[in-house]
Amino acid sequence: GEPAPLASARGKVVVAGVTISNPDKILWPARDGHPAITKAELARYYEAAADRILPHVADRPTSIIRAPEGVGGETFFQRHAMPGSNPRLKLIDVHERKPYVAVVDVGGLVAIGQSGGLELHPWGCAPGEPEIPDQVTFDLDPDEGLDFEDVISAARVVRKKLEALGLHPFVKTTGGKGLHVVVPIKTDARSRVTWDQNKAFAKGVSEAIRAEAPDRFTTTLAKKARGGKIFLDYLRNGRMATAVAPWSPRARPGAGIAFPLAWTQVKAGLDPTAFSLRTYPALLKKPDPWKDFRVSAVSLKGALKKL
Ligand code: ATP
Ligand code: MN
Ligand code: MN
Repeated sequence: GEPAPLASARGKVVVAGVTISNPDKILWPARDGHPAITKAELARYYEAAADRILPHVADRPTSIIRAPEGVGGETFFQRHAMPGSNPRLKLIDVHERKPYVAVVDVGGLVAIGQSGGLELHPWGCAPGEPEIPDQVTFDLDPDEGLDFEDVISAARVVRKKLEALGLHPFVKTTGGKGLHVVVPIKTDARSRVTWDQNKAFAKGVSEAIRAEAPDRFTTTLAKKARGGKIFLDYLRNGRMATAVAPWSPRARPGAGIAFPLAWTQVKAGLDPTAFSLRTYPALLKKPDPWKDFRVSAVSLKGALKKL
């Protein structure tokens, strides 16, 4: 039901000041009776969702999954500036060989869409502060054969554990098979922790949960250890580790997006495929359940002690 792209006779589409070349290029092929999604539509999505995306990605080093030929074609992670990279993207020096790219505004998001950037994977750091973690992510990865209901109940277990430690966990879909439980943490000089502490906390919580229900959870990366369990992937929390951003599209069939939820939605019947590039206009009309994400931050130091 979206209006047709504002394609002129010259085939030119401009979104948020960015000229979209090949606007009719198909990025997500038609599937199950759903129409294909073009590059112009991706650009319009980034513009429409910018206010929801930017608080979670702006000014953090961000890996971009690019699929210039669309889903099903070749994909690659872009971390650095590349020839032809858009000047709208900022470069952040993280003391590696090359600077990392970061988005700062809506034009940058649309420029990513223009270059076939389908997924946004920021560091878990504070804006402009690559050495300061500002969140802890628990990436719940179900073994094949588990139902989404198992992921839902696992997320509730993780939530309970984190709340018992005085933290305020949030939850999002990934646009894939699992859920992410994400805890905002304080970054002021007194409260901040190191990347090693951040990762140690995520590992400690994950191992405590596994110890309480070893038949349901594993913390071992090896696929063969998963046998019918949820892998609590705590490895999203070190320096340079990334997780998919809230509202990021996924370069997978179905055009799902990683969608921020309220805990009241995390119950039987939750259908993560309901959140997609095909349903976003209605989703954007609803209040943002992660509106209070940043102001809910707690110092991780106290929680580390309790653990
Ligand atoms: P799903 O719910 O299907 O597991 P996901 O986004 O959690 O979706 P994972 O494979 O569990 O996917 O990966 C978790 C995160 O780890 C990703 O969101 C991504 O940011 C990061 N990641 C995964 N693979 C790579 C990789 N090869 N290079 C860099 N980062 C990666
Ligand atoms: Mn995962
Ligand atoms: Mn994972």
